[in-house]
Amino acid sequence: MKRITIAIDGYSSCGKSTMAKQLAKEIGYIYVDSGAMYRAITLLALRNHVFATDGTIDHELLRTLLKEAKISFRRNEKSDVAETYLNDENVERDIRTKEVSSHVSPIAALPYVREALVEEQRRLGKDGGIIMDGRDIGTTVFPKAEMKVFVTASSRIRAHRRYDELKQKGQEAPFEEVLKNVEERDYIDSHREVSPLRQAEDAVVLDNSNLTREEQAAWLITLYKERTEA
Ligand code: C5P
Repeated sequence: MKRITIAIDGYSSCGKSTMAKQLAKEIGYIYVDSGAMYRAITLLALRNHVFATDGTIDHELLRTLLKEAKISFRRNEKSDVAETYLNDENVERDIRTKEVSSHVSPIAALPYVREALVEEQRRLGKDGGIIMDGRDIGTTVFPKAEMKVFVTASSRIRAHRRYDELKQKGQEAPFEEVLKNVEERDYIDSHREVSPLRQAEDAVVLDNSNLTREEQAAWLITLYKERTEA
């Protein structure tokens, strides 16, 4: 069967990575979490004090760090899940903190950061058989992807999902704070100049506000079959 490219884009905390991972496992595709790449660069920026106290960014330092950064994904044998590595260090946990979440969108809005990461994402997907999730996968990274999904759900529902996830990881935060972060990231991601978050014209919209994981998985596999059997 033809090994296609699948792009899953949408708002923060829509459950894109959960559904993408599950589908990848089911159909034997590679899964790439492009958000993890922006998060890894943000972690590197925070560790190297790229942000001044007033929030301004030291671009010269960030450009140097970006050139030296090596991001990769390696499968954890125990959990069978791909984890993010930054210069050979497992940063899977460190890139999901509140601090990284609240600094990632300004970093992801920088054209030189996007250029470097998009190039790497295209390299990862050059042979097809890949599912990548993010904000600009169907519009910029793989505009010719055979299957494009644009996921959405109400911001309160998404914030609840993120709140539960953080709680489970022992990083509890007040619900209103989580909601504010989700809405702020949506705003910055949709209003930046380079590759803003928007639905590709040929993407299929999936509003999963009221869908169970099983219903969502069934919806995705049906679409995948349609695209590969055509
Ligand atoms: O997907 P996740 O929420 O982990 O992504 C973190 C952030 O990375 C997003 O809020 C967005 O600012 C940025 N991002 C992006 N383009 C992508 C993936 C993520 O700008 N393709």
